[in-house]
Amino acid sequence: MLLAALATCLLELQSLGVEVRAGPRRGLTVAPVTISSPVRGVRFERPGSAEATLTVDCALALALARSADRLRELGVEVVEWVSATSVRNIRRTHRLSRHSFGLALDVVALRGPGGLRYTVAGDFERGTGLPDDCVGAPETSGGRLLRTVICTLESSGRFRRILDPDFDGDHWDHLHLEVPPMARHAAR
Ligand SMILES: [Zn+2]
Repeated sequence: MLLAALATCLLELQSLGVEVRAGPRRGLTVAPVTISSPVRGVRFERPGSAEATLTVDCALALALARSADRLRELGVEVVEWVSATSVRNIRRTHRLSRHSFGLALDVVALRGPGGLRYTVAGDFERGTGLPDDCVGAPETSGGRLLRTVICTLESSGRFRRILDPDFDGDHWDHLHLEVPPMARHAAR
């Protein structure tokens, strides 16, 4: 069942033009894949690292790949991430973080044309989203872009949870993008 789901996921990534291979197993991943950046024109970079690959659960790889076109449309050329697959507990709890399973990615900054770089720590504007208007009225272009990206990913239904600085103090400097495991990941 899982193998079939993984095979389908790999094929889907390939059909999206993503360079992908199965494995290696990291942490507690059940369906690990390694994708090479760029993904449909969007580069995924880890600051300070020359590594151009990302090893995560296939469900997360697929959610990112399916979101890439929309990110490009919003002007995002580079997604800077600091944490993908690593076994650890949610802070101050004894529960395993979704990062342990390769189902979450922590994003710290987005880069656009002309060297524009917006960081979650410096550019996210707190408390701008409204119940009936997800983006709200951020005052800066960085605040607007970050909020628009969050709202776009949220409304896509591809992510189970997106945590930002409005969620709690632990997320003051990054966006936590999390997907459900593949068995429950409906085709979208
Ligand atoms: Zn996280």
